[in-house]
Amino acid sequence: MATFTSFKTRNSIVKRCISDDQTRLRLKYNPYYLPFDRQVGSHVWLDGKELIMLSSNDYLGLSDHPKVIEAGKKALEEWGSGTTGSRFANGSRYFHEKLESDLASFLGKEACHVSVAGYISCMSSIESFARKGDLIIVDRNVHSSLWAGIANTGARLERFGHNNIESLKEVLGQESPEITKMLVVEGVFSMEGHIANLPDYLTVIQNQNCFIVVDDAHGFGVLGKQGRGTVDYFGVTDQVDVIAGSMSKSMASTGGFVAGSTEIIEYLRTHSKQTVFSAALSPCQTACAQAALDVIKEEPEHLQHLWDNTRYYHKLLLDLGLDIWESKTPATPIVLGKIESAYYFWKKLMQKGVFTNIIPPPAVSPNKILIRTAISARHSKEDLEKIGEAMKFAAKGL
Ligand code: PMP
Repeated sequence: MATFTSFKTRNSIVKRCISDDQTRLRLKYNPYYLPFDRQVGSHVWLDGKELIMLSSNDYLGLSDHPKVIEAGKKALEEWGSGTTGSRFANGSRYFHEKLESDLASFLGKEACHVSVAGYISCMSSIESFARKGDLIIVDRNVHSSLWAGIANTGARLERFGHNNIESLKEVLGQESPEITKMLVVEGVFSMEGHIANLPDYLTVIQNQNCFIVVDDAHGFGVLGKQGRGTVDYFGVTDQVDVIAGSMSKSMASTGGFVAGSTEIIEYLRTHSKQTVFSAALSPCQTACAQAALDVIKEEPEHLQHLWDNTRYYHKLLLDLGLDIWESKTPATPIVLGKIESAYYFWKKLMQKGVFTNIIPPPAVSPNKILIRTAISARHSKEDLEKIGEAMKFAAKGL
């Protein structure tokens, strides 16, 4: 007679899920997956309590811009909810190509390809191009999406110290210049707010047979002329092979993009599994991204406001003696070092009506446990004053 195994312990993977400490701790302290009941601009409501959102990536504050909302509604009415297939097969629409062409010229590249998520685009910006036998050289602090792409290539991997040109030189010193290489960095690092020193990298990497990928999810809309990104900020557009990014941040939608020369993007369209085997970006999200891109070009005041707010906010935190890890951008960490301190700080901010995120390892190294905050053009003067009071209150008890 077959013996009955409890549903909850019937195999090792189910047991692993049940006994996972990270999940147990997450559920105990519960600072994640909090479902807001309502949202208006930079404010959200949790169980009826109003909070200032200080960890959204809506840097330019366009997610409730009237032109963006109107474009999304219109696309939904005209095209329906989905694309029901991959770009490769039946999912391509004229509006994808329009957005791609506009994004490409904004970024100073010949071509661009959009997909359903920044994660997917960033992953495919590596996976589509590097292969076994190549060498990938990567800043050790890059985003999970880039690691996911790297893992699928079978290429050899060398990490260099975060934003550390000497460490990059050391890696290159061990390699022959002829080997096929790919350099992977973020333009603006998502957790640290650091700007990658692209001109230095480009000097060092010259004549090294190296393809260069920059994930500019947090630089797009924020740095460079009109917000064209980190590569434009440094004036090195022609020297970077691929700019990848997300449309869920400054573009106030969802989705991602990869931009480069026509040949590179057509190669991606042939080889990217994420493109060939995954459904195309929805009409509504494409329309919202397109409207946001138009607003970025036509209304410079959002970028101006973002930087005014960023300068005010950084000064406020530094005056309180808080460690912002030398962030130079709106993505602003508050490094607290220990999980207990981060949790305390997070809770105090919540008490004062300010919502942030605790970032534990492995997203950052254990000595850099931090609260991730991001300032937006949408924060009003009154929001900034309340954020200042909350920060003072939280910092007092550290
Ligand atoms: N790259 C970086 C640097 C990111 O920070 C993120 C998202 N936080 C992504 C890629 C993925 O973007 P998305 O959320 O649009 O999938």
